[in-house]
Amino acid sequence: MKSEKIDERNRQLETESKKHIWYPFTQMRDFVNEKPVIIDEAKGCILKDIYGNEYIDGVSSLWTNVHGHGKEKIDLALKRQIDKLAHSTLLGLSNTPAIQCAKKLIEIVPKGLTRVFYSDSGSTAVEIALKMAFQYQQQSETGNREKTKFISMTQAYHGDTIGSISVGGIDLFHEIYGPLLFDSFKTESPYCYRCPLKKTYPACNLECLDRMEELMKAHSHEVAALVIEPLVQGAAGILVQPPGYLKRVRELCTRYNILMIADEVAVGFGKTGRMFACEHEGVVPDIMAVAKGISGGYLPLAATLTSEEIYQGFLGKYEDFKTFFHGHTYTGNPLACAAAIANMEIFEEERVIEKLQPKIEHLSNELKSLIALLHVGEVRQRGIMVGIELVADKNSKVPFPPKDKIGHRVIVEARKHGLIIRPLGNVIILMPPLAVSMEEISKLCEITYKSIRIVTES
Ligand SMILES: *Cc1c(COP(=O)(O)O)cnc(C)c1O
Repeated sequence: MKSEKIDERNRQLETESKKHIWYPFTQMRDFVNEKPVIIDEAKGCILKDIYGNEYIDGVSSLWTNVHGHGKEKIDLALKRQIDKLAHSTLLGLSNTPAIQCAKKLIEIVPKGLTRVFYSDSGSTAVEIALKMAFQYQQQSETGNREKTKFISMTQAYHGDTIGSISVGGIDLFHEIYGPLLFDSFKTESPYCYRCPLKKTYPACNLECLDRMEELMKAHSHEVAALVIEPLVQGAAGILVQPPGYLKRVRELCTRYNILMIADEVAVGFGKTGRMFACEHEGVVPDIMAVAKGISGGYLPLAATLTSEEIYQGFLGKYEDFKTFFHGHTYTGNPLACAAAIANMEIFEEERVIEKLQPKIEHLSNELKSLIALLHVGEVRQRGIMVGIELVADKNSKVPFPPKDKIGHRVIVEARKHGLIIRPLGNVIILMPPLAVSMEEISKLCEITYKSIRIVTES
């Protein structure tokens, strides 16, 4: 195309982007006055916009991308699959990639999870986990009909559907829907930087877990399951749980006969430095939800995995109606499953987790300079997941007021220097693909440092 033609096309895309799309998690009134960044291509960890500007993909296209964009093995797997079968239903039929993908998943998840129920987003994977736990208690011989409620954590994020919001704890996203939600018992999350119990780790001896135990003691007769983001609460701003926390949560669930649902949607597929976060503490949940990284960041796919015991609770004669009456239209989509198989094979063939370790260390070294900044309250890291909490005053930890849009201003500044990131309120999130190079890590941290400094100190 001639360059005037390209300019015209680009301007048209910008106009039409504002005219037709209602963007997620976005205040559209302000957004339409900003020049949108329109991504047109990507390779490795670099995104390219319609003008040819390049950016590091600093949040792995919202925590999904694993081995980089345009990864040859996944591209080829998809091309091969599309020539054979793009979609066929899993309702009453099966398909080859769905079977192979399930087998592969069972091989890599914590031992004890034996069954795979597919869906297409993290929210649905959690919604399914909640319904399964509830229905299991209602109808299984090993269940208990009194158990109809859930325990969830403050600051938790499990997705945007009504069920997953009901076990969510981020007021900004969830409060307005109050009248539509079912109640869940909340337990305080270990947000150690702003400890709700005003304690300090490790002197606290994880007192928050004593509170959790009290809650379980009082209500275990009516609680079906506890739902938790293991090791790291992602959308809360990368809140990292102290060592031993997760293991004790598992022990408490077992002791009080409460099913444990691990939402590995964000932390799964290598993000914490192990394939799954539960592995760090040798924890096997009863139900586990995975999504985001499962297809390597290529296509929408999710899975809810369960133990054999949960699965058995749904067996019976047809007329007993123990069936799990749930299933989304694109469930087990062959293309998405083909991408997921290739994704999991790459982990093995390229020893991705092993090669990730020095990158995690390098990232941690590069982040050290940030904590010295005047308005950086805390830098939290687990694996490749980073949360940088900005504060108006470092001593008192007083946050910036929402109207300052401080996080947003930092990420807009970062764009000017060739980095795409996304804030969660006053927390700047970094979460590059696992394929990120050492040089890209350095650049990512350098631009983040510079952008925070420019926005908060001038
Ligand atoms: C993103 C996320 C979800 C929701 O996943 P969607 O695919 O956006 O529906 C659920 N749980 C956790 C922990 C997440 O980070």
